[in-house]
Amino acid sequence: MFGFLIHRLVPASLYAGQTAFASVSEIDEQLRRCDGGGEAIAVLDRAKLHLYALMERRFRPAEALALTLKILNLLLGRRQFRARYATLAAKPFGLVVDPSNACRLACPGCVHSPRVESLKLFDWAPATLSQDRFARLLRLYGPYAIGAYFCNYGEPLLNRRAPTFIRMAKCHLMWTGLSTSLSVERFDAEAYVESGLDFMALSIDGATQSVYGRYRRNGNLQLVLENIRALVEAKRRLGRRAPLLCWNFLAFEHNRHEIDVAARIARKLGVDQFRVAIPFDVSWDDPEIRPARVRPALRRFHRLSLFSHPSNWNPFPEAINEGALARAFGNSWTAGAPEPPNPGATCHWLYKNIVMDAAGRILPCCSAPGPDRDLVFATLDGDGGDPFNSAKHRRARSILAGAALSGGNEPHCARCEWDHTAVNIGARHITSYFRASDAAFFDGRSLRLLADW
Ligand code: SF4
Repeated sequence: MFGFLIHRLVPASLYAGQTAFASVSEIDEQLRRCDGGGEAIAVLDRAKLHLYALMERRFRPAEALALTLKILNLLLGRRQFRARYATLAAKPFGLVVDPSNACRLACPGCVHSPRVESLKLFDWAPATLSQDRFARLLRLYGPYAIGAYFCNYGEPLLNRRAPTFIRMAKCHLMWTGLSTSLSVERFDAEAYVESGLDFMALSIDGATQSVYGRYRRNGNLQLVLENIRALVEAKRRLGRRAPLLCWNFLAFEHNRHEIDVAARIARKLGVDQFRVAIPFDVSWDDPEIRPARVRPALRRFHRLSLFSHPSNWNPFPEAINEGALARAFGNSWTAGAPEPPNPGATCHWLYKNIVMDAAGRILPCCSAPGPDRDLVFATLDGDGGDPFNSAKHRRARSILAGAALSGGNEPHCARCEWDHTAVNIGARHITSYFRASDAAFFDGRSLRLLADW
């Protein structure tokens, strides 16, 4: 046991062992020297077997396949991001998916708020994600992706297949997370713990029903607390550290006085973390609901509960989707024509994550489409091509990097003023993912190469 811990936790370079750095930096250097198109794909094809052989010395064969694909895809993505390519050979490393478009709550500012619905500000219809549709998304991107976040605007727990989707993602060796109100009556806590889920954000902004319900309209705090108890008990019964449970408290003027009481309740219930976050201003929807001036903070109650826990990196070794990984390993990335490096600005979403709602609509980022926001870039069930290279994705990448506007209809990115850097699955996920797989092998220098872009 002691030997195993040394092998997996102490940086391998300290005991003259091998880390991933030499191989990863060599591939990165070769990519830097080539044109990023066909030459880059040839570099990856040549590197594949060598990198796989290196991985196989420390990991099971299926794990080595997955790690090789994910590492090469990250290096290619980083290279194409830096050159501001419009057409990508690299696949998105983060998948953001709504298992359900519906929600029974009606929080101010959300697509589900009655006032927002009556004003028709967003184009957001109810839908439930089918297993077939999610499997199609995984066929395209699952072997290459680092993580999947199962929530955007819907309540994921309303889809009874959500635990199945999580398990499918884990069988492609991905990190998985979701955000939920937990205010749902039919909740199978054990199914979520057994699904392999890594992280669960619990959106609870109050310690009493009257305060909590002012923002979480229609939410039932008693039900939420019962569901937390069921989750904590299921983790204990099944002997699992995951999912990490993080109580997210959005601090408003009306609830700030309950922050400390809520934190005490969270600790008592056995939640792992308590986060105080500053919300967006939603007073345009409900003038009574205003953000509070408090400091964002994170309180950790259980030090051993990690965002990506090593024991949950590969929770189903016997059920890994080896066929999908082997097929992807046997294929090359598809090169577009080489593109000259462009020094222009860009949006990280367009290179790193892909977003799909429960109806299969492909969005470029976590924003909701609306009558004056063209954000439906493709549909998964469309022409069978690569939705990450939809015509609108390519056009948006070109415009942001400096291409002239046509004067006709352009994707919303052409006039977007939102944050272009904060993606849902980003550097933190890449770093913690590889650390969870083998913190000794993926040392700091390797992680910087993979995550720093
Ligand atoms: S530019 Fe704006 S609309 Fe386009 S993907 Fe980025 S954040 Fe979304």
